[in-house]
Amino acid sequence: MSLHDITTRISNAEQDAGRAPGSVTLIAVSKVQPNARVQAVLEQGHRCFGENRVQEAEGKWPDFKQHFNGINLHLIGPLQSNKARAAMALFDAIHTVDRPKLATTLARLAQELGRCPDMFIQVNTGEEDQKAGVMPAQADAFIKECQGLDLPVRGLMCIPPVDEEAALHFALLAKIAARNGLDGLSMGMSSDFEKAIALGATHVRVGSAIFGERVAS
Ligand SMILES: *Cc1c(COP(=O)(O)O)cnc(C)c1O
Repeated sequence: MSLHDITTRISNAEQDAGRAPGSVTLIAVSKVQPNARVQAVLEQGHRCFGENRVQEAEGKWPDFKQHFNGINLHLIGPLQSNKARAAMALFDAIHTVDRPKLATTLARLAQELGRCPDMFIQVNTGEEDQKAGVMPAQADAFIKECQGLDLPVRGLMCIPPVDEEAALHFALLAKIAARNGLDGLSMGMSSDFEKAIALGATHVRVGSAIFGERVAS
């Protein structure tokens, strides 16, 4: 696979779903990948990337930002409140807003900094104990709470359980978004992004299918 293969598959999936061309943003997930692979994708002109960890991202992206214009960086991994300030400085979007304390911290920082990344609220659609995200039954209230804090809530994000049919989770996320008037849907990874696009994904997070398998860290 390559960047070109993935962008072609995204275009085809948009078309199959009757979606407008370019309506899906590809977030190239570069976590744990060697810098040379990331640079190769930057040199092919791609600018939108996803990282899991604030600290890892701080180690590589300031340099890349000096050499490539227009980089758009998305945090897709869990965020601790004590890393919120660093995350606000580095990222253009945060996909993992999942609890009131974090939302309050982000809102306070947004006031202080006078700017705020796009926010996605993570929903634990599979209600898994070990997974982050607000429970589906609490999602409506938490979305309103975030909006009440003036956070720019762009949409919702989910990571389906590995052993379940992802489409059910994508459909649930889309339903929660629709009833809350949100149109951003961050869902779909290497193995299922076409399915996610068919169900309304606006942001797909694709790592290994672009960069190759992640080197064990
Ligand atoms: C690693 C990761 C991805 C990308 O996974 P691939 O299977 O390599 O495409 C997407 N979303 C999140 C939240 C991730 O942590």
